[in-house]
Amino acid sequence: MNLHRKLAVLADAAKYDASCASSAAAARNSVDGRGIGSTEGSGICHSYAPDGRCISLLKVLLTNFCVYDCLYCVNRVSSNVPRARFSVAEVVQLTLDFYRRNYIEGLFLSSGIVRSPDYTMEQVVEVARVLREEHDFRGYIHLKTIPDASPELLARAGRYADRLSINLELPTPEGMQTLAPEKNASGIRRSMARLRLLIDDAKAQAAPPAPRSGPGLAPRPAAAPPFARSQSTQIIVGADSADDRTILETSSAMYGSYGLGRVYYSAFSPIPDASRQLPVRAPPLAREHRLYQADWLMRFYGFAADEIAGGADGMLALDVDPKLAWALQHRERFPVDLNRAPRELLLRVPGLGVKAVERLLASRRVRQLRAVDLARLRVPVAKVLPFVVLADHRPASDLDAGALAARLRPALRQASLFDAGS
Ligand code: SF4
Repeated sequence: MNLHRKLAVLADAAKYDASCASSAAAARNSVDGRGIGSTEGSGICHSYAPDGRCISLLKVLLTNFCVYDCLYCVNRVSSNVPRARFSVAEVVQLTLDFYRRNYIEGLFLSSGIVRSPDYTMEQVVEVARVLREEHDFRGYIHLKTIPDASPELLARAGRYADRLSINLELPTPEGMQTLAPEKNASGIRRSMARLRLLIDDAKAQAAPPAPRSGPGLAPRPAAAPPFARSQSTQIIVGADSADDRTILETSSAMYGSYGLGRVYYSAFSPIPDASRQLPVRAPPLAREHRLYQADWLMRFYGFAADEIAGGADGMLALDVDPKLAWALQHRERFPVDLNRAPRELLLRVPGLGVKAVERLLASRRVRQLRAVDLARLRVPVAKVLPFVVLADHRPASDLDAGALAARLRPALRQASLFDAGS
């Protein structure tokens, strides 16, 4: 099979993995004229598809052969798909060629499991080692690690990668037992815990940025750390029966226990010749989107998982964002006085993002905020006003939750014949 055909097969097989984003890139650079692949000073931008997936990396599998039989995976051993396998040298060459043509800023490399987890992981690590040590590649590298690989191999992977990920895939041990019985939920968590220790150690040892002499000069960026800066994981949404609250609680526990940089949510895609234990239809894409919004609320807005998806069915509303849905269910917590409320309460007001809250706090130090100030502070006025008190504004008392919900919900629209995933 020629290289282009392999690339077509292995890039297509990698598209189901959402866990790539280059925001964790280390501060390597090649502004001194040495090395290649810098994300700084090269004019290469990060690029994301509308659904949040990173699109400026070479994202491939080393191979889509796999000895495991995870039912939701198109690459499982029983799947009837064309198979291909790159050599280490081929992936290295493709990465360098694509980078030199300015197509990519880095590499996202994953793999099916061939022979054994350790054998596969050795190949994955070798790609990164050759790029870094033999070609002085300074671009972004994200390696998907094999959870059952040895701790030594995980540690070696981290020496060359900017980010490592270990995909949990299924949010509950029961789901894993049913759909991916060869995987070991506690083994995955053990590997995440090991990576956390290695990442934390490396951060603690990282040298601080060297100061620049001269007035007005920004400090030099810190040297790249000797280990990956973060780890991430992916959860497949809708392959099993786990509700949104369960998914968010799982994510919340992993953020807390393993210091994950991100949890990615990937809506299950029906695959050819699928098992009858899988749903025949993909979940609505809006569900994936709402989970990302809820995840953001947990990380930056002080919400707990069971607050956001606290309804009887444990699911997030699809028609309104999770913060608005929470506010509509908790009218007793409003209105919030924008001139007096603490930051954590302001963050709970629908329409107020973290930056808007900072602008409000700065502005109210010098003046009483009035309704007219909201537009100046770049706040969505119609969304915010029913939930807040200002010097010259108090929301109408007759706006019960039902009337308000009807007013704030987006208008229904006629679905198109070509709408996807709804
Ligand atoms: S181990 Fe990974 S590649 Fe192999 S079948 Fe399971 S999910 Fe697919």
